[in-house]
Amino acid sequence: MSYLDLDFKSRQAPPILRPKRRTSSPFHINRLIRGLTALLTLIGAVYLFLFLLPDGSARIEDSNLKQSRLHYSVLLPSKIDSEPLPESLQNPVQDSIASAWKSVQIKSGDTLASIFSDAGLDATTTYKVANLNEQTKKLTRIRPGQHISMLVDDDNKLVSLKYMPDLTQTLVLERQQDDSLSSDLLHHPLEPIPVYKSGEITSSLFEAAAKSDIPENIIMELAGIFGWDIDFALDIRKGDRFGIVYNELYKDGVKIRNGKILAAEFVNNGKLYKAVYYTDPKGESGYFTPEGKSMRKAFLRSPVKFSRISSRFTRKRWHPVLSKWRSHKGVDYAAARGTPIRASGDGKVKFKGTKGGYGKTVFIQHGNKYTTVYAHMSRYARGIKKGKRIKQGQVIGYVGSTGLATGPHLHYEFRVHGTHRNPLTVKLPAAEPIDKAYKTHFNQQIKTYLSMLHLMKDETVASLKPVNE
Ligand SMILES: [Zn+2]
Repeated sequence: MSYLDLDFKSRQAPPILRPKRRTSSPFHINRLIRGLTALLTLIGAVYLFLFLLPDGSARIEDSNLKQSRLHYSVLLPSKIDSEPLPESLQNPVQDSIASAWKSVQIKSGDTLASIFSDAGLDATTTYKVANLNEQTKKLTRIRPGQHISMLVDDDNKLVSLKYMPDLTQTLVLERQQDDSLSSDLLHHPLEPIPVYKSGEITSSLFEAAAKSDIPENIIMELAGIFGWDIDFALDIRKGDRFGIVYNELYKDGVKIRNGKILAAEFVNNGKLYKAVYYTDPKGESGYFTPEGKSMRKAFLRSPVKFSRISSRFTRKRWHPVLSKWRSHKGVDYAAARGTPIRASGDGKVKFKGTKGGYGKTVFIQHGNKYTTVYAHMSRYARGIKKGKRIKQGQVIGYVGSTGLATGPHLHYEFRVHGTHRNPLTVKLPAAEPIDKAYKTHFNQQIKTYLSMLHLMKDETVASLKPVNE
């Protein structure tokens, strides 16, 4: 079921479904099937015990179960279904009785080698499996509580193996005709269920989120989405409010984790901001205003997190090292030596090297209009060289005090057509809006998300027009 299929034009209750609503008939059928399977398994086990064991054809040879070899004729599974999720992995007892599969629950301290050894497999098999490919490497990162199911033949050779690294995937290993091993990673996608939550700020954003039972990672994401328009450290007021629609991800009716924010609105100091999530047909995703403008700016306001401004942009100031009056055509951010410096926008490295008083410096060209400068670096980030394409937020170097500097800081410049501008006050251009060709697709997709936001129904908010459109 996809929330996009829901009819929002009808006057029915809003489709913000709680997981309970989903326990309709298919669920009961599943339970019935599961029950019947368990019953048949039990009958099979009793039959096996009463009739097969005495004549020795299916006997467990050794009283020590851990060391025992199972003497069943092995039926190779021709194909393992990807859907539904193999129940056997969650019910090891049923599995081992039902067939020759042996399922082991991983205990603390277990390794692939110890589990294989207990199952009668030799060290060569452990080595081959662990080093087969990237998929099977997952078996070297097993965690207590998980299960590994194995099918081992009379000659102590691994025939097949199943393992779920997490609830969304199953690793399947099978021995081929030529004795080689092959693996497959089956994906079991989680089902997204959108939920709506809202809050009002009395003291802080986090306190408001906690009161409304909004997970911390979702509120961090919200702050990230609106962070270009609202300074969450300085601008937040008592009475500010917000609404969020985000996905909760389910597997078989059980919530696994939270997904993306689909739509959100924030009323800050009487001003309404709105954002919707959109993925274009090329697969590029981001947050946009309902009009299709990017929520992002083309430049970060500050290239260093966890820093303090130690010197602002001025026409003239006393230079402590040179002992004379000089203008300061950038902003200094004081931060610990080694603090990462991020590129403030997408662009290309125009210069990398030592430049007089600037010390170790990087110039980034953004289109033909903008250039940003990062000076006094202690070192450059790996791979940074002239001509290299850089993404916004990418680490390009680390704070230091090379060149003329009294202490570790970043000297940052923002130039428009070669002219120095104050990075703290210059009007930053927005990132690229929605491609005109996708406008219809965009409008279609966001209609659903926007209708999930309820805050607008409140009269005080309904009179507001989004300021970020
Ligand atoms: Zn400076």
